[in-house]
Amino acid sequence: MTEKRYLFTPGPTPVPPQVLAAMAEPMVHHRGPDFRIVYERCLARLKEVFRTENEVLLYASSGTGTMESAIANLCVPGERVCVVSAGAFGNRWAAIAGAYGCEVDRLEYAWGETPYADDLASRLAEREARVVLLTHSETSTGVVLDVRAFAAVVQQAGAISVVDAVSSLGAVPLETDEWGVDVVVSGSQKALMTPPGLAVVSVSQGAWDARGTLPRFYFDWERTRKAQEIFDAAFTPAVSLVLGLDVALGILLERGLDAAFERHLRLGRACREGIKAMGLELFSPDDDSAAVVTAVHSPDGVDAGDLLLLLRDRHGVTLAPGQGALKGKIFRIGHIGYFDVFDIATALAAVELALTELGADIERGAAVTRALEAYEQPIHA
Ligand code: PMP
Repeated sequence: MTEKRYLFTPGPTPVPPQVLAAMAEPMVHHRGPDFRIVYERCLARLKEVFRTENEVLLYASSGTGTMESAIANLCVPGERVCVVSAGAFGNRWAAIAGAYGCEVDRLEYAWGETPYADDLASRLAEREARVVLLTHSETSTGVVLDVRAFAAVVQQAGAISVVDAVSSLGAVPLETDEWGVDVVVSGSQKALMTPPGLAVVSVSQGAWDARGTLPRFYFDWERTRKAQEIFDAAFTPAVSLVLGLDVALGILLERGLDAAFERHLRLGRACREGIKAMGLELFSPDDDSAAVVTAVHSPDGVDAGDLLLLLRDRHGVTLAPGQGALKGKIFRIGHIGYFDVFDIATALAAVELALTELGADIERGAAVTRALEAYEQPIHA
Protein backbone atom coordinates (compact mmCIF):
# COMPACT_ATOMS: atom_id res chain seq x y z
CA MET A 1 0.00 0.00 0.00
CA THR A 2 1.34 3.45 -0.91
CA GLU A 3 1.50 6.12 1.75
CA LYS A 4 -0.43 8.89 0.06
CA ARG A 5 -4.11 8.15 -0.58
CA TYR A 6 -6.48 9.70 -3.09
CA LEU A 7 -10.25 9.39 -2.71
CA PHE A 8 -12.19 9.81 -5.97
CA THR A 9 -15.48 8.17 -5.06
CA PRO A 10 -18.94 9.77 -5.21
CA GLY A 11 -19.26 9.53 -1.44
CA PRO A 12 -17.71 9.67 1.00
CA THR A 13 -15.75 12.46 -0.64
CA PRO A 14 -12.60 14.32 0.47
CA VAL A 15 -13.16 16.73 3.36
CA PRO A 16 -11.53 20.21 3.35
CA PRO A 17 -8.96 20.78 6.12
CA GLN A 18 -11.02 23.61 7.68
CA VAL A 19 -13.92 21.17 8.09
CA LEU A 20 -11.67 18.52 9.64
CA ALA A 21 -10.24 21.14 11.99
CA ALA A 22 -13.72 22.22 13.13
CA MET A 23 -14.60 18.63 13.89
CA ALA A 24 -11.49 18.26 16.03
CA GLU A 25 -12.62 21.10 18.35
CA PRO A 26 -13.25 20.09 21.97
CA MET A 27 -16.73 18.74 22.62
CA VAL A 28 -19.45 21.19 23.62
CA HIS A 29 -22.78 20.51 25.28
CA HIS A 30 -25.64 20.42 22.80
CA ARG A 31 -28.10 22.26 25.06
CA GLY A 32 -25.83 25.24 25.73
CA PRO A 33 -25.15 28.44 23.79
CA ASP A 34 -21.85 27.11 22.34
CA PHE A 35 -23.71 24.62 20.21
CA ARG A 36 -26.89 26.63 19.72
CA ILE A 37 -25.12 29.36 17.75
CA VAL A 38 -23.62 26.84 15.33
CA TYR A 39 -26.85 24.81 15.10
CA GLU A 40 -28.89 27.89 14.22
CA ARG A 41 -26.39 29.05 11.59
CA CYS A 42 -26.04 25.58 10.10
CA LEU A 43 -29.82 25.18 9.77
CA ALA A 44 -30.06 28.60 8.08
CA ARG A 45 -27.24 27.67 5.69
CA LEU A 46 -28.97 24.41 4.82
CA LYS A 47 -32.05 26.33 3.70
CA GLU A 48 -29.86 28.38 1.38
CA VAL A 49 -28.27 25.29 -0.10
CA PHE A 50 -31.67 23.66 -0.59
CA ARG A 51 -32.93 26.96 -2.03
CA THR A 52 -36.03 26.72 0.10
CA GLU A 53 -37.94 28.74 2.65
CA ASN A 54 -39.12 25.47 4.21
CA GLU A 55 -37.53 24.13 7.33
CA VAL A 56 -34.69 21.67 6.66
CA LEU A 57 -34.71 18.95 9.29
CA LEU A 58 -31.31 17.65 10.37
CA TYR A 59 -30.72 14.10 11.62
CA ALA A 60 -27.81 12.00 12.80
CA SER A 61 -28.08 9.19 10.26
CA SER A 62 -26.91 8.24 6.81
CA GLY A 63 -28.89 9.48 3.81
CA THR A 64 -31.04 6.36 3.84
CA GLY A 65 -32.37 7.52 7.21
CA THR A 66 -34.06 10.57 5.76
CA MET A 67 -35.25 8.49 2.78
CA GLU A 68 -36.93 6.25 5.34
CA SER A 69 -38.25 9.30 7.18
CA ALA A 70 -40.03 10.39 4.01
CA ILE A 71 -41.88 7.09 3.73
CA ALA A 72 -42.65 6.89 7.46
CA ASN A 73 -44.02 10.44 7.56
CA LEU A 74 -45.86 10.58 4.25
CA CYS A 75 -47.32 7.17 3.58
CA VAL A 76 -50.27 5.10 4.69
CA PRO A 77 -50.07 1.29 5.00
CA GLY A 78 -51.19 -0.51 1.84
CA GLU A 79 -51.27 2.70 -0.17
CA ARG A 80 -49.82 2.79 -3.68
CA VAL A 81 -46.65 4.83 -4.16
CA CYS A 82 -44.94 5.35 -7.49
CA VAL A 83 -41.17 4.84 -7.71
CA VAL A 84 -39.17 5.99 -10.73
CA SER A 85 -36.31 3.54 -10.72
CA ALA A 86 -33.23 3.32 -12.95
CA GLY A 87 -30.54 1.96 -10.66
CA ALA A 88 -29.49 0.98 -7.14
CA PHE A 89 -30.99 4.00 -5.39
CA GLY A 90 -34.33 3.86 -7.20
CA ASN A 91 -34.40 0.25 -6.00
CA ARG A 92 -33.71 1.48 -2.48
CA TRP A 93 -36.80 3.71 -2.58
CA ALA A 94 -38.86 0.71 -3.65
CA ALA A 95 -37.34 -1.47 -0.91
CA ILE A 96 -38.06 1.06 1.85
CA ALA A 97 -41.62 1.67 0.69
CA GLY A 98 -42.12 -2.11 0.44
CA ALA A 99 -40.75 -2.62 3.95
CA TYR A 100 -43.37 -0.18 5.26
CA GLY A 101 -46.15 -2.14 3.58
CA CYS A 102 -46.85 0.24 0.70
CA GLU A 103 -47.92 -1.06 -2.69
CA VAL A 104 -44.99 -0.14 -4.90
CA ASP A 105 -45.72 0.79 -8.49
CA ARG A 106 -42.39 0.96 -10.31
CA LEU A 107 -41.77 3.02 -13.38
CA GLU A 108 -38.67 1.05 -14.23
CA TYR A 109 -35.80 1.76 -16.60
CA ALA A 110 -32.68 -0.23 -17.38
CA TRP A 111 -29.64 0.85 -15.34
CA GLY A 112 -27.97 3.66 -17.25
CA GLU A 113 -31.14 4.86 -18.99
CA THR A 114 -32.40 8.38 -18.33
CA PRO A 115 -35.99 8.53 -17.03
CA TYR A 116 -38.39 10.89 -18.83
CA ALA A 117 -41.07 12.97 -17.18
CA ASP A 118 -43.59 12.20 -19.95
CA ASP A 119 -43.43 8.52 -19.03
CA LEU A 120 -44.34 9.44 -15.47
CA ALA A 121 -47.25 11.57 -16.67
CA SER A 122 -48.64 8.57 -18.61
CA ARG A 123 -48.10 6.25 -15.66
CA LEU A 124 -49.86 8.52 -13.18
CA ALA A 125 -52.75 8.97 -15.61
CA GLU A 126 -53.05 5.17 -15.76
CA ARG A 127 -52.53 4.46 -12.06
CA GLU A 128 -52.86 7.20 -9.48
CA ALA A 129 -50.38 7.56 -6.66
CA ARG A 130 -50.35 10.11 -3.85
CA VAL A 131 -46.58 9.97 -3.37
CA VAL A 132 -43.92 9.77 -6.11
CA LEU A 133 -40.33 8.82 -5.24
CA LEU A 134 -37.54 10.11 -7.49
CA THR A 135 -33.76 9.89 -7.61
CA HIS A 136 -32.15 13.11 -8.80
CA SER A 137 -28.64 11.76 -9.31
CA GLU A 138 -28.62 7.96 -9.66
CA THR A 139 -25.11 7.50 -8.29
CA SER A 140 -24.92 3.88 -9.44
CA THR A 141 -25.12 4.88 -13.12
CA GLY A 142 -24.17 8.57 -13.34
CA VAL A 143 -27.59 9.58 -14.70
CA VAL A 144 -29.02 12.88 -13.44
CA LEU A 145 -32.69 13.33 -14.25
CA ASP A 146 -34.60 16.52 -14.96
CA VAL A 147 -36.14 17.12 -11.53
CA ARG A 148 -37.84 20.29 -12.67
CA ALA A 149 -39.83 18.43 -15.35
CA PHE A 150 -40.64 15.55 -12.99
CA ALA A 151 -41.78 17.86 -10.19
CA ALA A 152 -44.11 19.64 -12.64
CA VAL A 153 -45.68 16.32 -13.69
CA VAL A 154 -46.14 15.26 -10.07
CA GLN A 155 -47.69 18.60 -9.18
CA GLN A 156 -50.01 18.39 -12.17
CA ALA A 157 -51.17 14.98 -10.95
CA GLY A 158 -51.86 16.43 -7.48
CA ALA A 159 -49.27 14.14 -5.88
CA ILE A 160 -46.32 14.73 -3.53
CA SER A 161 -42.83 14.68 -5.08
CA VAL A 162 -40.03 13.21 -2.99
CA VAL A 163 -36.52 13.61 -4.35
CA ASP A 164 -33.41 11.71 -3.30
CA ALA A 165 -30.74 14.39 -3.71
CA VAL A 166 -28.09 12.52 -1.72
CA SER A 167 -25.43 12.88 -4.40
CA SER A 168 -26.83 15.94 -6.20
CA LEU A 169 -27.41 18.57 -3.50
CA GLY A 170 -24.69 21.20 -3.86
CA ALA A 171 -23.39 19.53 -7.03
CA VAL A 172 -26.00 20.30 -9.67
CA PRO A 173 -28.89 22.80 -9.68
CA LEU A 174 -31.85 21.91 -7.49
CA GLU A 175 -34.35 24.74 -6.96
CA THR A 176 -36.55 23.20 -4.30
CA ASP A 177 -39.09 26.01 -4.01
CA GLU A 178 -38.98 27.41 -7.52
CA TRP A 179 -39.49 23.97 -9.06
CA GLY A 180 -42.18 23.04 -6.53
CA VAL A 181 -40.39 19.97 -5.14
CA ASP A 182 -42.19 18.84 -1.97
CA VAL A 183 -39.61 16.76 -0.16
CA VAL A 184 -35.85 16.66 -0.73
CA VAL A 185 -33.53 14.32 1.17
CA SER A 186 -29.74 14.38 1.25
CA GLY A 187 -26.65 13.41 3.23
CA SER A 188 -23.50 15.11 4.47
CA GLN A 189 -20.87 12.93 2.79
CA LYS A 190 -21.05 13.95 -0.85
CA ALA A 191 -21.12 17.45 -2.37
CA LEU A 192 -21.57 18.89 1.14
CA MET A 193 -17.92 18.03 1.87
CA THR A 194 -18.49 16.60 5.34
CA PRO A 195 -17.91 13.07 6.65
CA PRO A 196 -20.81 10.58 6.60
CA GLY A 197 -23.31 10.71 9.47
CA LEU A 198 -25.71 13.60 8.91
CA ALA A 199 -28.87 13.48 6.84
CA VAL A 200 -31.24 16.28 5.92
CA VAL A 201 -34.77 16.63 4.61
CA SER A 202 -36.82 19.63 3.51
CA VAL A 203 -40.59 19.42 3.63
CA SER A 204 -43.06 21.70 1.82
CA GLN A 205 -46.29 22.82 3.44
CA GLY A 206 -48.19 20.63 0.97
CA ALA A 207 -46.23 17.56 2.05
CA TRP A 208 -46.61 18.53 5.70
CA ASP A 209 -50.38 18.67 5.33
CA ALA A 210 -50.40 15.34 3.49
CA ARG A 211 -48.58 13.35 6.17
CA GLY A 212 -49.69 9.75 6.61
CA THR A 213 -50.33 7.41 9.49
CA LEU A 214 -47.35 5.05 9.54
CA PRO A 215 -45.69 4.60 12.94
CA ARG A 216 -42.51 6.62 13.57
CA PHE A 217 -40.56 8.05 16.47
CA TYR A 218 -36.92 9.09 15.90
CA PHE A 219 -37.76 10.08 12.35
CA ASP A 220 -41.07 11.77 13.19
CA TRP A 221 -40.68 15.08 11.37
CA GLU A 222 -42.93 16.91 13.83
CA ARG A 223 -40.70 16.04 16.78
CA THR A 224 -37.60 17.40 15.06
CA ARG A 225 -39.37 20.46 13.63
CA LYS A 226 -40.60 21.53 17.06
CA ALA A 227 -37.13 21.10 18.54
CA GLN A 228 -35.41 22.98 15.71
CA GLU A 229 -37.84 25.87 16.12
CA ILE A 230 -36.16 26.67 19.43
CA PHE A 231 -32.70 25.41 18.35
CA ASP A 232 -32.82 22.71 20.99
CA ALA A 233 -32.31 19.38 19.23
CA ALA A 234 -34.84 16.62 19.86
CA PHE A 235 -32.06 14.09 20.50
CA THR A 236 -28.33 14.40 21.13
CA PRO A 237 -27.07 15.67 17.78
CA ALA A 238 -23.84 14.50 16.14
CA VAL A 239 -22.18 17.59 17.60
CA SER A 240 -18.79 17.35 15.86
CA LEU A 241 -20.34 16.60 12.49
CA VAL A 242 -22.63 19.62 12.81
CA LEU A 243 -19.59 21.80 13.59
CA GLY A 244 -17.98 20.43 10.43
CA LEU A 245 -21.08 20.78 8.26
CA ASP A 246 -21.48 24.39 9.33
CA VAL A 247 -17.97 25.20 8.10
CA ALA A 248 -18.43 23.21 4.88
CA LEU A 249 -21.69 24.99 4.06
CA GLY A 250 -19.99 28.31 4.82
CA ILE A 251 -17.31 27.51 2.23
CA LEU A 252 -19.89 26.41 -0.32
CA LEU A 253 -22.06 29.51 0.11
CA GLU A 254 -19.19 31.95 0.28
CA ARG A 255 -17.96 30.79 -3.12
CA GLY A 256 -21.55 30.61 -4.32
CA LEU A 257 -23.76 27.69 -5.25
CA ASP A 258 -23.78 28.69 -8.90
CA ALA A 259 -19.98 28.59 -8.97
CA ALA A 260 -20.14 25.08 -7.49
CA PHE A 261 -22.62 23.96 -10.16
CA GLU A 262 -20.39 25.36 -12.90
CA ARG A 263 -17.30 23.70 -11.44
CA HIS A 264 -19.03 20.33 -11.28
CA LEU A 265 -20.20 20.68 -14.86
CA ARG A 266 -16.63 21.41 -15.98
CA LEU A 267 -15.24 18.53 -13.92
CA GLY A 268 -17.72 16.16 -15.56
CA ARG A 269 -16.65 17.36 -18.99
CA ALA A 270 -12.98 17.03 -18.18
CA CYS A 271 -13.44 13.52 -16.87
CA ARG A 272 -15.48 12.32 -19.85
CA GLU A 273 -13.13 13.81 -22.41
CA GLY A 274 -10.11 12.30 -20.67
CA ILE A 275 -11.74 8.88 -20.52
CA LYS A 276 -12.64 9.00 -24.21
CA ALA A 277 -9.15 10.19 -25.15
CA MET A 278 -7.83 6.97 -23.60
CA GLY A 279 -10.11 5.03 -25.93
CA LEU A 280 -12.45 3.90 -23.15
CA GLU A 281 -16.22 3.80 -23.43
CA LEU A 282 -18.49 5.80 -21.14
CA PHE A 283 -21.34 4.07 -19.32
CA SER A 284 -22.80 7.31 -17.93
CA PRO A 285 -24.34 9.80 -20.40
CA ASP A 286 -21.93 11.75 -22.56
CA ASP A 287 -23.43 15.15 -21.85
CA ASP A 288 -23.29 17.94 -19.30
CA SER A 289 -26.07 16.44 -17.17
CA ALA A 290 -23.54 13.87 -15.92
CA ALA A 291 -21.75 16.25 -13.56
CA VAL A 292 -21.76 14.06 -10.43
CA VAL A 293 -20.06 10.80 -11.31
CA THR A 294 -18.53 9.39 -14.49
CA ALA A 295 -19.15 5.68 -15.03
CA VAL A 296 -16.83 3.87 -17.43
CA HIS A 297 -16.91 0.44 -19.07
CA SER A 298 -13.86 -1.56 -18.13
CA PRO A 299 -11.98 -2.41 -21.34
CA ASP A 300 -12.21 -5.91 -22.85
CA GLY A 301 -10.39 -8.50 -20.80
CA VAL A 302 -10.06 -6.32 -17.69
CA ASP A 303 -12.27 -6.97 -14.67
CA ALA A 304 -13.09 -3.60 -13.13
CA GLY A 305 -12.60 -5.13 -9.67
CA ASP A 306 -8.99 -6.03 -10.52
CA LEU A 307 -8.40 -2.52 -11.82
CA LEU A 308 -9.73 -0.94 -8.62
CA LEU A 309 -7.63 -3.21 -6.41
CA LEU A 310 -4.47 -2.43 -8.36
CA LEU A 311 -5.22 1.29 -8.23
CA ARG A 312 -5.69 1.14 -4.51
CA ASP A 313 -2.86 -1.19 -3.58
CA ARG A 314 -0.13 0.04 -5.89
CA HIS A 315 -1.08 3.67 -6.44
CA GLY A 316 -3.15 4.65 -3.40
CA VAL A 317 -6.09 5.69 -5.59
CA THR A 318 -9.64 4.75 -4.65
CA LEU A 319 -12.36 4.75 -7.31
CA ALA A 320 -15.86 3.30 -6.92
CA PRO A 321 -16.93 -0.10 -8.28
CA GLY A 322 -20.04 -0.93 -10.27
CA GLN A 323 -23.06 -1.91 -8.20
CA GLY A 324 -25.44 -4.85 -8.71
CA ALA A 325 -25.09 -6.48 -12.12
CA LEU A 326 -22.51 -3.84 -13.13
CA LYS A 327 -19.98 -5.12 -10.58
CA GLY A 328 -16.74 -5.97 -12.37
CA LYS A 329 -18.00 -4.36 -15.59
CA ILE A 330 -17.78 -0.64 -14.85
CA PHE A 331 -15.87 1.66 -12.55
CA ARG A 332 -16.95 5.09 -11.37
CA ILE A 333 -15.03 8.31 -10.78
CA GLY A 334 -16.83 10.71 -8.44
CA HIS A 335 -16.22 14.44 -8.90
CA ILE A 336 -18.33 16.22 -6.33
CA GLY A 337 -17.50 18.36 -3.35
CA TYR A 338 -13.93 19.26 -2.45
CA PHE A 339 -12.64 18.41 -5.88
CA ASP A 340 -10.77 20.26 -8.62
CA VAL A 341 -9.44 19.61 -12.10
CA PHE A 342 -6.12 18.33 -10.79
CA ASP A 343 -8.03 15.59 -9.00
CA ILE A 344 -9.49 14.62 -12.37
CA ALA A 345 -6.02 14.70 -13.90
CA THR A 346 -4.69 12.46 -11.12
CA ALA A 347 -7.56 10.00 -11.43
CA LEU A 348 -7.15 9.78 -15.21
CA ALA A 349 -3.38 9.40 -15.02
CA ALA A 350 -3.76 6.62 -12.48
CA VAL A 351 -6.40 4.76 -14.53
CA GLU A 352 -4.19 5.04 -17.59
CA LEU A 353 -1.17 3.67 -15.77
CA ALA A 354 -3.04 0.85 -14.05
CA LEU A 355 -4.76 -0.26 -17.25
CA THR A 356 -1.39 -0.34 -18.99
CA GLU A 357 -0.03 -2.46 -16.16
CA LEU A 358 -2.97 -4.83 -16.67
CA GLY A 359 -2.13 -5.14 -20.36
CA ALA A 360 -5.15 -3.25 -21.71
CA ASP A 361 -4.91 -1.74 -25.17
CA ILE A 362 -5.40 1.97 -24.46
CA GLU A 363 -4.18 5.25 -25.87
CA ARG A 364 -1.45 6.62 -23.58
CA GLY A 365 -0.53 10.22 -22.92
CA ALA A 366 -3.65 11.96 -24.23
CA ALA A 367 -6.14 11.86 -21.35
CA VAL A 368 -4.77 14.51 -19.00
CA THR A 369 -4.14 17.08 -21.73
CA ARG A 370 -7.60 16.54 -23.17
CA ALA A 371 -9.19 16.80 -19.72
CA LEU A 372 -7.45 20.08 -18.93
CA GLU A 373 -8.52 21.49 -22.29
CA ALA A 374 -12.13 20.40 -21.82
CA TYR A 375 -12.21 21.97 -18.35
CA GLU A 376 -11.31 25.36 -19.87
CA GLN A 377 -13.91 25.27 -22.67
CA PRO A 378 -16.58 27.98 -22.43
CA ILE A 379 -19.66 26.57 -20.72
CA HIS A 380 -22.11 27.42 -23.49
CA ALA A 381 -19.91 26.47 -26.44
N1 PMP B 1 -29.17 7.84 -2.68
C1 PMP B 1 -28.12 8.08 -3.46
C2 PMP B 1 -28.36 8.69 -4.80
C3 PMP B 1 -26.83 7.79 -3.02
O1 PMP B 1 -25.78 8.04 -3.79
C4 PMP B 1 -26.66 7.22 -1.74
C5 PMP B 1 -25.29 6.87 -1.20
N2 PMP B 1 -24.40 6.39 -2.11
C6 PMP B 1 -27.79 6.98 -0.97
C7 PMP B 1 -29.03 7.30 -1.47
C8 PMP B 1 -27.70 6.34 0.37
O2 PMP B 1 -27.07 7.17 1.25
P1 PMP B 1 -26.40 6.59 2.58
O3 PMP B 1 -25.39 5.58 2.13
O4 PMP B 1 -25.81 7.81 3.20
O5 PMP B 1 -27.48 5.99 3.38
